[in-house]
Amino acid sequence: MLAAETIAENVGHIRREIEAAADGRRVLLVAATKMNDAAAVRAAIAAGVDACGENRVQEMLEKDAVGAYAGAPLHFIGHLQRNKVNKVVGRADLIQSVDSAELLELIDRRAQAMGIIQNILIEINVGGEQQKSGIEPEELPDILKTASECAGVRVRGLMCVPPAVSGEENRDNFAKMKQLFVDNGGKKYDNISMDFLSMGMTADFAEAIRQGANMVRIGSAIFGARDYSAAH
Ligand SMILES: *Cc1c(COP(=O)(O)O)cnc(C)c1O
Repeated sequence: MLAAETIAENVGHIRREIEAAADGRRVLLVAATKMNDAAAVRAAIAAGVDACGENRVQEMLEKDAVGAYAGAPLHFIGHLQRNKVNKVVGRADLIQSVDSAELLELIDRRAQAMGIIQNILIEINVGGEQQKSGIEPEELPDILKTASECAGVRVRGLMCVPPAVSGEENRDNFAKMKQLFVDNGGKKYDNISMDFLSMGMTADFAEAIRQGANMVRIGSAIFGARDYSAAH
């Protein structure tokens, strides 16, 4: 794990790059904390990230149990399995990765049972990749209509994980997301506010911001490269 001072320096450096790309707009920095321990998460929060994003439910619960996220909102950014919905609804301040109408409805049911409103983003498979999570762009109006009738969820925007190529190569995908964000925003649907466009990671966040992202999710540039050999 990197020292807390190094994590703080990294966050400072990223903030400056965000500012340079944002041209005066406010962009939220979400630390993608997967495979980093509670101490690293705390260091990122102390360095002023706007939120923490976790990918795996079990890992989130373990770090949450030791208070790792104290002082920052918690986002869920990974693929959410149906049988784990109950563990995430009501705990995550924002579920960024709602990738099917079925998942949307399960989240709604759980939130209503708890008497809360769960904030979510809809994940778009903007690169049209076979293996990738996310709804097809053409399905967005339908899922938003469904969401507008769900009293337990509030759609706050869109998210994508585009193909793993350079930012330049993803420029068109980011621009397409921005267009979807604009076209489906405004007052088109009850109960939906298109506040957040979550796109951009370590390799491509500057380009994502130039194309309109106002939320980026950054892991390795904050915490260093992930050590997959240590994973089980
Ligand atoms: C890991 C991850 C990120 C951050 O990736 P980096 O390239 O390490 O910045 C962002 N979003 C999601 C959904 C992730 O799983």
